[in-house]
Amino acid sequence: MSPVNNTETEEMRKVEEKRREREVYRDKIRGCLFGGAVGDALGYPIEFMKEDAIWKKYGQRGITIYELDAKKRKALISDDTQMTLFTANGILVGETRGCLRGMMGPVAAYVYEAYLEWFETQNIYDIAGIKKDVRRICWLMNVPELYATRVPGNTCISALEELKNHSKYGYPDVIRKRNDSKGNGGLMRVAPMALDYHGGETLDAVDQEGGEIARITHCHTLGYMPAAFLVHVINRIVYPQREMSLEDIILEAKDTIRRIYKDEDHLAELLAIADLALTLAENQDDDVSNIHRIGAGWVAEETLGIALYCALRYRNDFSHGIIAAVNHSGDSDTTGAVAGNILGALCGYEAIDQRWKEDLELSDLILEIADDLCYGCVMEEYGSYRDPVWIRKYMEGGR
Ligand SMILES: [Mg+2]
Repeated sequence: MSPVNNTETEEMRKVEEKRREREVYRDKIRGCLFGGAVGDALGYPIEFMKEDAIWKKYGQRGITIYELDAKKRKALISDDTQMTLFTANGILVGETRGCLRGMMGPVAAYVYEAYLEWFETQNIYDIAGIKKDVRRICWLMNVPELYATRVPGNTCISALEELKNHSKYGYPDVIRKRNDSKGNGGLMRVAPMALDYHGGETLDAVDQEGGEIARITHCHTLGYMPAAFLVHVINRIVYPQREMSLEDIILEAKDTIRRIYKDEDHLAELLAIADLALTLAENQDDDVSNIHRIGAGWVAEETLGIALYCALRYRNDFSHGIIAAVNHSGDSDTTGAVAGNILGALCGYEAIDQRWKEDLELSDLILEIADDLCYGCVMEEYGSYRDPVWIRKYMEGGR
C-alpha cells in the first residue's frame, strides 16, 4: 500500500471514530429538536385562543392530539420551528467554514445571515420568487414549505427588516441596542446552539453565544438572558459532565447566568422566575393554576419559566409535559416549543410517542438537521477526506 493510501485510510478511520463518538448524543439531540417542533405544532392552532374557548372546543383536558391542517393533512410547524432550523443552518455554516478554512467569525454572525434569509422567506410568496443570482448561505432556502408564513413574531420581522435595510456594517450593527423587546422570539429559536457542542469551547461561551443569537432581534436583557439560560439547561441535559438532576441543572444555570450577566438589568427577575418554576413543580395544584402564577408566556422570561415548570413536573413523560405547556390562554406554540426542546432532550427521540411523529410537517427535514448538528463537520482544512453532500449544504448553500 502506498503512503498516500495509508494516510487516507488513517484519516477515514478517524472520521468514522469521530462519528461513532457522537452517536451517543444523537437520540437526545433529535429529541430536543423534534420535541420542540412537536410542542410548536400542538400549540399553534390555539396560539391566540383563551382558555374558555380551548375547553369549549377540545374538552376539559384541552388539546391533546394534533389538529391537522385541512389541506396538507399535517400538523403545521410555525415560525418557532422555522427559525430554529435557520439557527441550526447558520451555526453549521460557521462551523464548516471554521473546519475547512481554519477561521470563522462569531457564531451569531452566521446565524444573523441565516435570519436575513429566513426574513426573505416571509416576504416573498414562494421559492419561485427568490432571485437566483444572489448568493445565499442557507440550503433551507431551497425548501418550498419553509416559505409558509405562520404568524411570525413582529419583533423578529421589524428587527430584521431594520438590519436588512438600514444596517451600515452588517453583523456589528446587531450589538447596538435597537429595540427594547423582551418578547420570546429570541428564546424560541436558540436550542441548536446548545446541541452543536463539540467540547472545544467553554459552556459559558456557548451560553453567551446563545444570548447573542437571541439579541440579534431582542435587545432587552430579558429578551436574551433567558436564551442563554435555556442553552445552558439543554446543553447539560444532552452533554452531562456528571450525574445531575434537572433541579441541579437549573440551579447551576442560575449561578452561571448570575455570573456572566452580573452587570445586566433585570437579572433578579429572571432568577426569581426560575425559582418560582422549581417551587411550583412541587405543589399539588393543577397545571393551569401554576402556569398562571408564572405568566402568559408572551415574554421570554415567562416562556422559560413555563417550560421549566412543565419539564420539572413531567420529566419522564414527554406527552403530558407538552400538553400542559400549550393548554393555557398565553403563547401556546412557543411555550410548547421551548418545553418540547427541554423534554425532548430529557426523554430522547425514541421515547417520544409515535402519534407525535406520524403527522408532523417536515419531520424528515427536522431529523436531518438534528443529525447534522449531532455529527458536525468532520472534514479538516488540510485533510483529504471530503463529504460532497455536506460541502454542498454548508459551504455552497445547497447549490
Ligand atoms: Mg409561532
